[in-house]
Amino acid sequence: MSCDIVIIGAGPAGLCFARALKGSGLRIALVERQPEAGLIAPPDDGREIAITHHSQRLLRELGLWTRLREEEIGTLRDAMVLDGDDREGLMFRHDEAGKPQLGWLLSNHAIRRAAYAGVMELPEVERITGVQVSAVRTGRDGAEVELADGQTLHAQLVVAADSRFSDTRRAMGIGADMHDFGKTMLVLRMHHEAPHEQVAWEWFGHGQTLALLPLHDPHTSSVVLTLSPPAMREMLALDDTALEQAMAERFDQRLGAMRVAGPRCAYPLVGVYAQRFVAERFALIGDAAVGMHPVTAHGFNFGLLGQDTLAGEMRAAMAAGRPFWEASVLQRYERRHRLATRPLYLATRMLAGLYTDDRRPARVLRKLALGAGARLGPFKRLVMSGLTAESAGVPALLRRRST
Ligand SMILES: Cc1cc2nc3c(=O)[nH]c(=O)nc-3n(C[C@H](O)[C@H](O)[C@H](O)COP(=O)(O)OP(=O)(O)OC[C@H]3O[C@@H](n4cnc5c(N)ncnc54)[C@H](O)[C@@H]3O)c2cc1C
Repeated sequence: MSCDIVIIGAGPAGLCFARALKGSGLRIALVERQPEAGLIAPPDDGREIAITHHSQRLLRELGLWTRLREEEIGTLRDAMVLDGDDREGLMFRHDEAGKPQLGWLLSNHAIRRAAYAGVMELPEVERITGVQVSAVRTGRDGAEVELADGQTLHAQLVVAADSRFSDTRRAMGIGADMHDFGKTMLVLRMHHEAPHEQVAWEWFGHGQTLALLPLHDPHTSSVVLTLSPPAMREMLALDDTALEQAMAERFDQRLGAMRVAGPRCAYPLVGVYAQRFVAERFALIGDAAVGMHPVTAHGFNFGLLGQDTLAGEMRAAMAAGRPFWEASVLQRYERRHRLATRPLYLATRMLAGLYTDDRRPARVLRKLALGAGARLGPFKRLVMSGLTAESAGVPALLRRRST
């Protein structure tokens, strides 16, 4: 089969990229190893994704926002960061950002379902599902993707969106800086007695990190607990009643009684940053390019930003009568996306290390950071502009700081 672009991976990033090329005249083959039934109705993977204002705008432009059901959209009005036994934390308030809310919370499986439905209606996208990529070759004259069922796809460009553990990245000889945080994150939807009032919590306790992400129902949140793998194994071995009690205690009974309301999903925490995002007739997007630690809630936000940057550069090249696979087009994407993501990737790595370290120097640094952060307006504005800026992610955030 012959086409213009092969996209490998029908996760949120690959699907949004296919959607972003709607009407461009390009013929796309989208290859995904999962069977189609699991893409039309993706299983609940427990992840609740915090969405910035810029990402919400992109999802609207892609025509995906209106495919989400009302009850799938949570409001992130304010956020609170607590350290250890502190009762008062650092508050990030929507009104200080001049917005009605800091952001939104969407279930990952709802994003996947909406994005897949959006791609299914595009006649220019050939969906090839339930089959794995077995080899990729690119060169001056074009690209070839071999599939495990024996098919070979010929294209002008290959775009890999096949997760942070991307096999395609490796097959293309592109290395990645990987950081294993040595922790496991449990995400679990729970009902709780006290209302969440649309406030997200990030709570750095001793030996654990807890987060609470407010969902559409005022008494339901996504609980996020980060522990060492042995401690997490003990937690996962508990039955529902014991788990509910343990969670209520970990939250210091602040939410009253808690009840399990979703599947338990555990993720090993590994951050990944590809050494290059592009090669000849090849580009990486999504987690395959930048796989963030979830603590700053930016993985998918960056995935959306990156696919938008690449699609925009390709469209601009075509409008100027140049090939969309040209090295200069891909290199511009790489430059812009590195600039947008690298500072926050590094800061997140440092933060995640600091906030999961219970040794005394780290505890003191945390207190200093939160205490000083609470007093210093510019620090808070910096964090909040990253969430609420309408036009871009991190570059706008950095620009604002320098003015
Ligand atoms: C607990 C948790 C919480 C998170 N919270 C947030 C948040 O609040 N905000 C935020 O912005 N981000 C968040 N993220 C990150 C976000 O979930 C990811 O950035 C996003 O899902 C990545 O999408 P992707 O399409 O790049 O990759 P994936 O979702 O990993 O999809 C990759 C796809 O490629 C397919 N594939 C892989 N290999 C092959 C192959 N060889 N051939 C064919 N197909 C293949 C896979 O089957 C899969 O469908 C969170 C992540 C976790 C784990």
